[in-house]
Amino acid sequence: MSTFDDLADRYRINKGKTFRLEDIDPGDTGKVKSQEKATELLQKSVQLMGELQEKLYAQDRWSLLLVFQAMDAAGKDGTIKHVLSGVNPQGCQVTSFKAPSDTELDHDFLWRTTCALPERGRIGIFNRSYYEEVLVVRVHPNFLAGQKLAPELVGDGIWKERFEDIRNFEGYLGRNGVITRKFFLHVSKEEQRKRFLARLTEPKKNWKFSANDVKERAHWDEYMEAYEDMIRHTATKDAPWYVVPADNKWFTRIVVAGAIIDALQSLDLHFPKVSKTKLKDLAAAKHALLNEN
Ligand code: ATP
Ligand code: MG
Repeated sequence: MSTFDDLADRYRINKGKTFRLEDIDPGDTGKVKSQEKATELLQKSVQLMGELQEKLYAQDRWSLLLVFQAMDAAGKDGTIKHVLSGVNPQGCQVTSFKAPSDTELDHDFLWRTTCALPERGRIGIFNRSYYEEVLVVRVHPNFLAGQKLAPELVGDGIWKERFEDIRNFEGYLGRNGVITRKFFLHVSKEEQRKRFLARLTEPKKNWKFSANDVKERAHWDEYMEAYEDMIRHTATKDAPWYVVPADNKWFTRIVVAGAIIDALQSLDLHFPKVSKTKLKDLAAAKHALLNEN
């Protein structure tokens, strides 16, 4: 599976400091020359992921947190659907985070996502996450104003403070057996325009169109700055960001699949060893079944 490793590695950011968004082309398809090839790779990786997840679940030691962030229409939903199509639904939970409710606003900004963290042995998928707190909330100051924070807690340094809180939080998760991988699906402004137009013109896609998405598009440059700054401050070796080219959905999917397989293979996953006593019990049960009647 080395092809997968190489694929995702190119887009992995372990150290954010010098990261520049402009260095990653949303239209890049790496060494993968055709959609057919990508589909073949995806099928193989979906199967492998299913096998690895079975061990993750059986071993009940680690959990995997996958965070997805992107501009609208970048393909978060489709990526989650296709890439995780081979995993047992019982071992995986997807949670989508929208604008916070009144109850959620009465808590600290990491509260609602903490409640949704994957249990040991599971894969947890965050469709949007606590990173919205340094993205949409940064781009729209009215969201921050609605967070009921005391004025002395909202200084110029608030974004740096949130980055620090997030880094510490992810470090804490790591020390508790939660492996974090973060994906920014990097779509171009032109490709987003095309996808919005498709939502307007194709009847089957009409339901996906939201006038608000077009409003957010007007803030494109501010979002890109916020994403870049976020990655610079929160990409770490143990909780890296993958900045995934997203103009070709088939490519996005194999990069994400490769990164997930990488993460699972970095763990020493194995089925639990059965104890001697248990082996004895198994032998006795087998004997009893074979000798029924
Ligand atoms: P889709 O459009 O594919 O259904 P989505 O994730 O875009 O999925 P929407 O209901 O369209 O879902 O949008 C959710 C909105 O909630 C996004 O605009 C997002 O920025 C916003 N949101 C998420 N978290 C926060 C937050 N902490 N504060 C304010 N807004 C938030
Ligand atoms: Mg939306």
